[in-house]
Amino acid sequence: MKTLKGTPISSGIAIGSVFVKKIDTKAIEFTKADNTIEEKQRFHNSRNLAIEQVEGIYKEMLQTKGKEEAAIFEAHIEMLNDVEFISSVESTIETSACNAEWAIKTVRDSFVELFEALDDEYMRERAMDIKDISNRILKILSGNDSKDSFRFKQPVIVVADDLAPSDTAQMDPEFVLGIINETGGPTSHAAIIARMLGIPFVVCPDITSRVQMGQMLAFDGETGNIELEVTEQVHKEYEARQDAFRFKKGQLEQLRGTKAITVDGYEVALAGNIGAPQDADKVLQQDGSSIGLFRTEFLYMNRDTAPDEEEQFKAYKEVALKMEGNPVIIRTLDIGGDKEVNYLEIKKEDNPFLGYRAIRLCLDRISFWKVQLRALLRASKFGNIHIMYPMIVSMEELYQAKRILEEVKTELRNEGIEFKEAIPVGMMMETPAAALMADVFAQEVDFFSIGTNDLIQYTMAVDRMNGKVAHLYSQYDPAVLRFVKKIVESAHQNGIPAGICGEAAADEKLLPVWVGLGVDELSMSPVSILNTRGRIQGLIKSDCEELVTKILALKTSAEVEEYLKRV
Ligand code: PEP
Ligand code: MG
Repeated sequence: MKTLKGTPISSGIAIGSVFVKKIDTKAIEFTKADNTIEEKQRFHNSRNLAIEQVEGIYKEMLQTKGKEEAAIFEAHIEMLNDVEFISSVESTIETSACNAEWAIKTVRDSFVELFEALDDEYMRERAMDIKDISNRILKILSGNDSKDSFRFKQPVIVVADDLAPSDTAQMDPEFVLGIINETGGPTSHAAIIARMLGIPFVVCPDITSRVQMGQMLAFDGETGNIELEVTEQVHKEYEARQDAFRFKKGQLEQLRGTKAITVDGYEVALAGNIGAPQDADKVLQQDGSSIGLFRTEFLYMNRDTAPDEEEQFKAYKEVALKMEGNPVIIRTLDIGGDKEVNYLEIKKEDNPFLGYRAIRLCLDRISFWKVQLRALLRASKFGNIHIMYPMIVSMEELYQAKRILEEVKTELRNEGIEFKEAIPVGMMMETPAAALMADVFAQEVDFFSIGTNDLIQYTMAVDRMNGKVAHLYSQYDPAVLRFVKKIVESAHQNGIPAGICGEAAADEKLLPVWVGLGVDELSMSPVSILNTRGRIQGLIKSDCEELVTKILALKTSAEVEEYLKRV
């Protein structure tokens, strides 16, 4: 088949040559080595790099968690230097005349089997350590660990099996014409970043086995169509689509300087979501009024250690200054789920989205989190920074987070460091527990921001990354919309604003619903701001309110979507 149908994720047209990236390190194969000395050298080079990485983590852990927690990395360093491990890999390369990867995998598996069979818990735990250090070396050897593996000098279409958000974050839109990934959905963080960068993105299972490095490819991020054979005619057709896409963008330019006000005078603030200080420029370029969500976890990715207080302070200050007194909502660290940070050494979990994520991690690693809070408070002097907590599920968590913030304020006061005393503090509304308790939470915070990406996932009990159950993940589901209504009403009853910062904020079909519900702010990928503004200018608030009444009486997400299509 020459045309494949993928799932559209980020709009735009891409025509170009393919760069295939397989991330999976499990599929290691035996290859005959012509030069075993070279293979041994590859092993040692990557082992040395692994030692460097673990030493970095060890130092970081010592600072943030203490001696006991750091001890495991001391043990890893010892293992990486272990004579028996080293000589076993070397002799396997020698006797089997194989590649370094195969030898490491073989030695890893035999050591693990040996340790796991022992009747001693301590030794059985060492099996985990062996796995850990071997996999670290294998990752380095595969190149997947490189901080620069997605920085290109030639324009390419990236075709990958499993992109991480940190991979997409490295990409320069000048050289990455488009992305086709085998996994993930529209609200995976790899997708969110691509949208922010304006890179066309389609998800298509099995794509890596259907294309070859260097092959020409064309795809449409709006329809999801992928052309495996780029004939002259296909080339022309996609160029024409590209022109049409650019023309539409050009038309939107005329909305610059106008406001998102409905025909009957209801104004919605249109803000931008960002992942780095320089993204604030994109928000300004697209005429966004403020920053509705700064995902600070991206400051922590693609590096070996966490950013220190000074580095974070500079980043937050930069955004605050750029936005010149307009609100900048900075969300505290939301690591976990699909956002991994290796040096934090978070154990693999079966259900990472239900596990050690976001505020849970911060409330557990308090001294580590305080570094971020100090930086945020210090930067608050330079603009209109708002602090926002992610994934809150209970009042206990909110109280604890607020208490820690107060402690940090006291520390700064004692040190004579200035900050804005009345810095607004808000929370993400992204769990059913928070939504149900919205009336109670609203008395304790200065604002709500609805994270629909997670609110849908947790309400519908559907992993936002799992394509198999994607049909259940719907922003049109009446359950989700009822939660949004409850959250907005609770906010307004308590005199605080409620915004939406999940991907559904820019969903064209839902805009009349958001207006009808009285949402105060919509925060989105900067590229969507002008289009959303244009749509809102064509709406009438009173009609939208009637529409909400009708929509909320419907029973299924399909009915809601169908109804909204006809509006
Ligand atoms: C959300 O959940 O909607 C949200 C904005 O946060 P994130 O996508 O980073 O989880
Ligand atoms: Mg979220």
